[in-house]
Amino acid sequence: MENERLQPGLYIVATPIGNLGDITLRASEVLARCDAIACEDSRVTAGLLRHLGISKPLWRYDDHSSDADRERILGEMAHKAVALVSDAGTPLVSDPGYRLVRAARDAAIPITSLPGPSAAIVALTLSGLPSDRFMFAGFLPPKDNARKKALCDVGEVPATLIFYETAPRLLKSLEAIEDVLPGREVAVARELTKFYEECRSGSPSTLIEHYAVHPPKGEIVLLIGPPNADFMKSVDIDALLQEALADNKPSQAAALVARATGHNRKALYARALELK
Ligand code: SAM
Repeated sequence: MENERLQPGLYIVATPIGNLGDITLRASEVLARCDAIACEDSRVTAGLLRHLGISKPLWRYDDHSSDADRERILGEMAHKAVALVSDAGTPLVSDPGYRLVRAARDAAIPITSLPGPSAAIVALTLSGLPSDRFMFAGFLPPKDNARKKALCDVGEVPATLIFYETAPRLLKSLEAIEDVLPGREVAVARELTKFYEECRSGSPSTLIEHYAVHPPKGEIVLLIGPPNADFMKSVDIDALLQEALADNKPSQAAALVARATGHNRKALYARALELK
């Protein structure tokens, strides 16, 4: 069975995000039986294959690969089974593959996708934040203004927000959340499935205090709980703003109401100017 060849086509294969024990039986079987593997970094994929005792031709592929490279891989899929993997987790989720899958669909090449680990879902399930509705929003932009704008853009979505993050940028992102969405519950899920796995939740300010003293290391998923819909329905935002405006400038009033309600500070500032 292990040596039987697979039907030609594209096999999207999720791989572990840290703990190699998380490779699925089907992923191992497809990697063992395919003809070639398209991968991001052949050194990383070679490490996984060594662990599995598999040796296969590795083709470097990412979404910046040339059209000619993509065409060549598509041509091979007409008569070969090609597995697509990324360095870790599910291909296409903040990882290469979208263009290849789209092109394969256009060319009517058979495609299947094998479910497996993805840091976003592991973090969501661990965070204790509402999981009935969530929005995965990739990485926040690295520049301060763009990061705040991105948070403003999605801040009012009634869902748990999930971002991929890097350790050097975590504090800046928490500060931006404190600034733009101050009343919200946040979770930081770090080193998932690995020895130092942790998930810490709280207000942006308590997490800033913690990570300022304990600089984070490793891989991180950052989650923001949804706006509190029941609370938001029951509060009279205008009344809160008017009360705050009695003793404060519009910007301070907006910040106070944002902290109390988790509402978007920019939107509150605009409303405070109208009310003044
Ligand atoms: N495709 C992958 C997936 O399905 O999870 C994600 C690839 S993306 C380029 C890499 C980012 O995923 C990291 O910067 C981090 O935000 C997150 N990540 C990956 N592995 C992780 C882990 N073990 N713990 C926490 N976050 C992780």
